[in-house]
Amino acid sequence: MEIIRIPRIMQDTSRGHLLRSRTIGFVPTMGALHEGHLSLVRMAREENNVTAVSIYVNPTQFGPNEDLTKYPRQIDADIERLREEAVDILFLPDDSLMYPAGFATEIEVKGLSERMCGHFRPGHFRGVATVVAKLLNIVRPTRAYFGQKDFQQTVIVRRMAKDLNLDAEIVICPTIREEDGLALSSRNAYLQPHQRAAAAGLYKCLNNVSREIKAGLHSGARIRDRMENMLGGEPLISAIDYASVYDPETLDEVEDITGEVLLAIAARMGTTRLIDNMLVSV
Ligand code: AMP
Repeated sequence: MEIIRIPRIMQDTSRGHLLRSRTIGFVPTMGALHEGHLSLVRMAREENNVTAVSIYVNPTQFGPNEDLTKYPRQIDADIERLREEAVDILFLPDDSLMYPAGFATEIEVKGLSERMCGHFRPGHFRGVATVVAKLLNIVRPTRAYFGQKDFQQTVIVRRMAKDLNLDAEIVICPTIREEDGLALSSRNAYLQPHQRAAAAGLYKCLNNVSREIKAGLHSGARIRDRMENMLGGEPLISAIDYASVYDPETLDEVEDITGEVLLAIAARMGTTRLIDNMLVSV
């Protein structure tokens, strides 16, 4: 596995592969890799000639009171896992190369970025859109792989790629879960053992409501009530940022359900913020 730290060298390396008509599959990550990340890596490897992964904890997507400094970092273990997965290239830049002095450009995907998590994390999706645009311009992938776990992020990245005529095909991969349904996340490492069991409550809530929707519950207001009641019944959930039903394309809240909808939750357990979602078709 080639480890590249300099954006210019990464661009030249990708250009070389593309000139030889090789396809590049790219998985952007913030590291602390788990099976969710690796499922994206395997998909990228299956569908492309060259697999590239980036590990970069992007400071501009963290708010001033968020977990940037304590975000889990385990680069040696990550490198080992990527070698085992036969990844070809690891792009591992640092802040001084991603945001050199004088850096002044930001990408804002209007509307979509203000809903759901955007409301509780102002500026977060500006940081995400900007870094993803940079990474796509540096790595020049044929396809870039993102997890459904971060559903709003996938909608925003797709919109940005379309609006900015970016070349890469954006591929969305299913959420990988623990046995009890908890979606894998690097942030799960923050959970204390007693919180860990309760964290599966998010998935249980999504599952229960999904069943109720399929059985005929189609009122947005009633679904929100049901979700808030279920989550509110778990004493270790200290706050619910949102728990509702959305249009999966516009991310607008849905009042009367038809077709496909997105159930999504963001909730806090002490200082840990958990998100999860599920698509449901009626
Ligand atoms: P992160 O390192 O958290 O920024 O995540 C990097 C990529 O992995 C994003 O596209 C995430 O959506 C994806 N991802 C994170 N957790 C999971 C999971 N449990 N299942 C599938 N994809 C995931």
